[in-house]
Amino acid sequence: MILNLVIFIFGLMIGSFLNAVIYRLHTGESIINARSHCPKCNHVLAWYELMPVISFLLQGGKCRSCKKAISFQYPIVEIATGVLFVLIFNFQFSIFNEFSSSNFQFLNLAYLAIVASSLIAIFVFDLKHYIIPDKIIYPLIGLVFFYRIFDFLKFIFLRITLVLLLICNRFHLIRLIFLLSDTKDLNVI
Ligand SMILES: [Zn+2]
Repeated sequence: MILNLVIFIFGLMIGSFLNAVIYRLHTGESIINARSHCPKCNHVLAWYELMPVISFLLQGGKCRSCKKAISFQYPIVEIATGVLFVLIFNFQFSIFNEFSSSNFQFLNLAYLAIVASSLIAIFVFDLKHYIIPDKIIYPLIGLVFFYRIFDFLKFIFLRITLVLLLICNRFHLIRLIFLLSDTKDLNVI
């Protein structure tokens, strides 16, 4: 339960970042360097105005400086990302990942979180501007392409390992049968 809460809060924070990405891809601002500001009065936001959902609720959905309404997009994207992260975390083990060994679970989790986040940003950007931004879709295609290849190679590797193990075990089994039956044919193997 606490782990789910931590993941939900992490999802809220990623959702907040996605809102910034959606806004800055449209205005052409730097995604990493620029300080977050009110799109209406350019008031630079302090840390307490940047808390996902909480700031929105505390400020009554309005900018502290110009009192103009903040779009409902912000809390909706944050909550949707939080919920999706919790769902991915709880279901990836059983649904998406039947062949993976536990070593790859974390990698798979990160992969699914990145894909889900990118799809949320694409969905909202498309809804607002009728554009699927190249800056999200091309890196995403590259990531999915390489991850699928990696996943396929991993699958092949695991199968080969499994077959080798089976072959080895079979020889051991046959040797055991010969030993138990105490025949002279043991030299055959
Ligand atoms: Zn403002």
